[in-house]
Amino acid sequence: DTHLLYGMPDLVQSLLAYLDASPTPYHAVAESARRLREAGYVELNEADAWSLRPSGRYYTTRNGSSLIAFVCGRLPPQDAGFLAIGAHTDSPNLRIKPTPDLKRYGYRQLGVEVYGGVLLSTWLDRDLSIAGRVTFERDDGLHSALLDFTRPLVRIPNLAIHLNRTVNSEGLLLNAQSHMPPILGLAGGEQTTFQQLLAEELTKHGAQLTAEQILGWDLSLYDVQRARRSGLAGEFIHSARLDNLASCFAALSALITAKETHDSTRVIVLYDHEEVGSRSAQGACSPLLRLALARITEAYDETRTRQEAFARAMARSFLISADMAHAIHPNYADRHDPNHAPVLGGGPVLKLNVNQSYASDGHTTGRLERWCRRAEVSLQPYVVRSDLPCGSTIGPITAAELGIPTVDIGSPLLSMHSIREMAACADVTLLARVLDAYFGE
Ligand code: ZN
Repeated sequence: DTHLLYGMPDLVQSLLAYLDASPTPYHAVAESARRLREAGYVELNEADAWSLRPSGRYYTTRNGSSLIAFVCGRLPPQDAGFLAIGAHTDSPNLRIKPTPDLKRYGYRQLGVEVYGGVLLSTWLDRDLSIAGRVTFERDDGLHSALLDFTRPLVRIPNLAIHLNRTVNSEGLLLNAQSHMPPILGLAGGEQTTFQQLLAEELTKHGAQLTAEQILGWDLSLYDVQRARRSGLAGEFIHSARLDNLASCFAALSALITAKETHDSTRVIVLYDHEEVGSRSAQGACSPLLRLALARITEAYDETRTRQEAFARAMARSFLISADMAHAIHPNYADRHDPNHAPVLGGGPVLKLNVNQSYASDGHTTGRLERWCRRAEVSLQPYVVRSDLPCGSTIGPITAAELGIPTVDIGSPLLSMHSIREMAACADVTLLARVLDAYFGE
């Protein structure tokens, strides 16, 4: 079935565009919001009173880096529940320090801090740019703006092999403080501070700012090489941030195509800060999702006992936590349990861990399996080798916070947390079919 081998071309193209538009969590949320507005979703502000109507489509954001979107069901949640999909907007990367300017041995460099579990060696010898959010003051108050330099601006050069003879046999050792500051330019001549650089770039885009007006930033490095299809038959995708923007994209697309005529309420939640443990005001440990679900429940009937309505709604709900999974690597096949070794292109991975690093159990697996059978998609079960530690996701965190039965799934991936990861086009289509069956119930 060539259709499956190559994925649905439109869907894969749409994913590539989403990846390229989203160098940071702020950009991922802005691009998701843009797609939602285009599909008729109405923005809600968390600080305002919400008035919702059955079958209405809405979204709200927090901190510009987390997003919730939903289609209200025809019935109140206490009678029909929520069907939810969760994913995360952040990816491991290098972030610009607050006082970043460095001058060393004739070079201008920037101090960087490691965000999450970065595979550091993959950031060397890449054409890197800078993007994120800048916060500044004007007469009318405090503002934030998205910034993306888009052009190659910095680079972290490898050390020549002649000066590091044992690198191939003994491995590349990288110290995050001393080896990772990227080179921005040559020292000498006209010297602008990093703040001035930001002010100039924002002014170029119409903001008219001076360096003194810039009060803070959340900026990271990213690879300017665009996402693209690859492999002999175009069966692969090479890109940054597939973990976990591929799942954000899948959740978003499933919601946008979901019909308005369902009894239950469809919800997606895209969280920031999963890669650093989810403990933040907009991460999976925050009350972001709980508050939104409570407000939706109350919108249907304010006369009922609120706590009971919410408890009933939770008891009727389900969550699919979507995050990328480790495909077996042909050169390192011993890192997988032979019976639980997903392959690229083989379809969604079902993640299980009895110690609750993943939220799935036999019963939630059963519920998922029925949607998969309806979609004619088979799952690839994964458990980590019994002698290796297990990764985790927002699944167990959200399940613990809300008490909703949850299953952890995700598309298979190679080079997880590399600056350039590898997935398969077929898995984009196969995951979409499962999520469509789920939201189509
Ligand atoms: Zn992830």
